[in-house]
Amino acid sequence: MQHDHEHHQSVTKTSQSVTDPVCGMQVDPNTALTLDHDGTTYHFCSDRCRDRFRHDPASFLTPLKTPTTRPRATRT
Ligand SMILES: [Zn+2]
Repeated sequence: MQHDHEHHQSVTKTSQSVTDPVCGMQVDPNTALTLDHDGTTYHFCSDRCRDRFRHDPASFLTPLKTPTTRPRATRT
């Protein structure tokens, strides 16, 4: 038994990735842009996403309670 296996080829550290709250993209916290809001640090894939979040953070933090994207067709 030899344990000198120092090849880190298939390192799947997906636990390090965080979600961009604006576009929902998985970003690397080490390289992503960050913004501190209400005591929590959020990560963004780009400056554009961060800027959108900064303008209206509530719209991105609010959980999807009301599915406004799919209105019911039963309205007359
Ligand atoms: Zn983004």
